[in-house]
Amino acid sequence: AVAVEVRDLHVTLDRVPILTGVDLTVAAGEWVTVIGPNGAGKSTLLRAVGGLLPAGPAVTLFGTPIRALKPRQRARVVATVAQSPAVPAGMSVLDYVLLGRTPYIAPLGRESAADLGAVHDVLARLDLDAFRSRELATLSGGERQRVFLARALAQGATLLLLDEPTSALDIGHQQEVLELVDQLRREHGLTVLATMHDLSIAGEYADRLVLLDAGRVVAAGPPDEVLTEELLARHYRANVRVVPGEH
Ligand code: ADP
Ligand code: MG
Ligand code: MG
Repeated sequence: AVAVEVRDLHVTLDRVPILTGVDLTVAAGEWVTVIGPNGAGKSTLLRAVGGLLPAGPAVTLFGTPIRALKPRQRARVVATVAQSPAVPAGMSVLDYVLLGRTPYIAPLGRESAADLGAVHDVLARLDLDAFRSRELATLSGGERQRVFLARALAQGATLLLLDEPTSALDIGHQQEVLELVDQLRREHGLTVLATMHDLSIAGEYADRLVLLDAGRVVAAGPPDEVLTEELLARHYRANVRVVPGEH
């Protein structure tokens, strides 16, 4: 089955063409990571796939054009963790993760026992039990990233979009968060579409990498076929070195 189908996606923001004809296919259960230099359009691509930007007919999720999905339906299909999600002041971990149940709660503000149960399961799975009543703003970067993931998981969506999930973390927590995402993917049969700026870890968990440059896909394939000196030298302005065999 195909989870994400993007065909000839064009996105123009403030009259500036940002994505100019992007094609992308992600199979159900696959992990695809989009890499590329700053400003390539990685975040814009993820926002279009998540329905946070109008993408016209170009984006199809599990066989349904995204624009045919109502917001609550869409939220049951795809969950996004933004690069730096806003952290509401004074909000506890429990309340924040409960926000992930919004697509299921009607009327809003009246969560069911099933919603709370789902949230408690997710908190337990992500080792966040002890943080339940803590104010989100007081957590460390790694703990906070687990809470952002918890909220996305509480949504019960099968497609997870992660925009630079490790960029705010030190190297130890980067591995921990990626390993956790990979475990969750296997346990729940999730599909993962991520972006990553840091090339030293981009290839570790991804089945395939997509290299985006100036709004276009310039390479795609298994990590060792994309993380080549030649491709990276051509598409990254700065000096980039990869050590072959490390990925
Ligand atoms: P990346 O995530 O690869 O760094 P982005 O998708 O964030 O790239 O941005 C791609 C380009 O689009 C950048 O040049 C950025 O300045 C521009 N851009 C992003 N958002 C907007 C916007 N709302 N209006 C105009 N330009 C934007
Ligand atoms: Mg950027
Ligand atoms: Mg970005």
